[in-house]
Amino acid sequence: MLHCNKWILRITLWNLKLNKPLLIDHSFEDWDWEGVPNFRMEQVRDWIFEKGQLDWGKMSNLPKSLKEKLTERYDLVPMKIMRVQGSKDTTQKFLWRLRDHQLIESVLIRANQDALGNRSSRLTLCVSTQVGCALGCKFCASGLDGLKRNLTTGEIVGQILLARKEAGRRIDNLVFMGMGEPLANLRALLPALDQILSPRGLGIGARHLTLSTSGLVPKILELAKYPAQIRLAISLHGGDNETRRKIMPINDRYPIEELFKACEKFIEKRRKMITLEYILIENLNDDLQQAELLATHARRLNAKINLIPYNQVDGLEWRRPTLPRIRAFQKKVEQGKAPKVTLRMEKGHDIEAACGQLRLQESSNLS
Ligand code: SAH
Ligand code: SF4
Repeated sequence: MLHCNKWILRITLWNLKLNKPLLIDHSFEDWDWEGVPNFRMEQVRDWIFEKGQLDWGKMSNLPKSLKEKLTERYDLVPMKIMRVQGSKDTTQKFLWRLRDHQLIESVLIRANQDALGNRSSRLTLCVSTQVGCALGCKFCASGLDGLKRNLTTGEIVGQILLARKEAGRRIDNLVFMGMGEPLANLRALLPALDQILSPRGLGIGARHLTLSTSGLVPKILELAKYPAQIRLAISLHGGDNETRRKIMPINDRYPIEELFKACEKFIEKRRKMITLEYILIENLNDDLQQAELLATHARRLNAKINLIPYNQVDGLEWRRPTLPRIRAFQKKVEQGKAPKVTLRMEKGHDIEAACGQLRLQESSNLS
């Protein structure tokens, strides 16, 4: 097995070596193409970030000689679509194949109605940050095979560029709740955020961007120093350490008390509400005592609560509670005077939208 893994690693490195550098792995400010005037680089920036054009050949206002030179030097396309599931007027899930043939997913969610009942056109993209995940939460499809590798900056930004192209319009909100632990890949993620937020990049406002973490305490503290007003969501999934550690091994490293101290530091620096995410799993964390604890935590942190009925994963034993049990849990949290509680009935339940599930299905089809 070890021998086999070594080979896979070698083939992956070899594949990456064969590829040219990916231009959008580097921020626009760092582009330096010996002797190419700034206005030409500005034209390329405009093609990529404003028009979503990822084909050198189609950048019609560039001289032929420059197009040839750039084609030789840089790749523009970080990934290709391998499969799309779902339809254009509901939720769509994209399975992407990266340049080294690894698979990742992004999910495009359409808000059906606004507060007045009008059809709303808000688009939210759920973005991946790693191939697989090392943290091994027991309920999650992404972590089943461990971590394959971190995504690069361009592979993170590329999901948004390409999903925007597929949707044919701009994306309003981003949630980093796809495959992987975003805070375990800050080295690629922070420059990706710079490109996403910059008016010269994708120009998406920081308030429209949420990072979700399973609770990597030192990284939350590091993120607190990031200047933009991005939002933070914590995957809690248990009201006490005993419950949480049953499904989240990370809790042994960073128990709830430590996690909350880091959250308080994050909040102190930003004066923004964070969100506590809570997956409801039958007979594991869905009893009313847990609901009371959750409300107490939310009051202490002045945090929103997002209840998420568990999305079943093939091969795993966990189940979603019945609707009356879900409602009773929600009611108890509300009675506990939690500042704000929402129940998210998974929009993509029918298309296996929980992170990692489509990739899992695809790899079992291929094997
Ligand atoms: N690694 C980060 C972000 C990716 S997971 C984190 O754990 O927060 C995004 C969210 O999806 C997390 O709250 C995670 O617990 C949840 N999730 C994972 N598998 C799920 C499933 N099968 N059903 C419902 N939510 C799930
Ligand atoms: Fe990783 Fe998040 Fe899945 Fe846990 S829930 S295994 S941290 S992706």
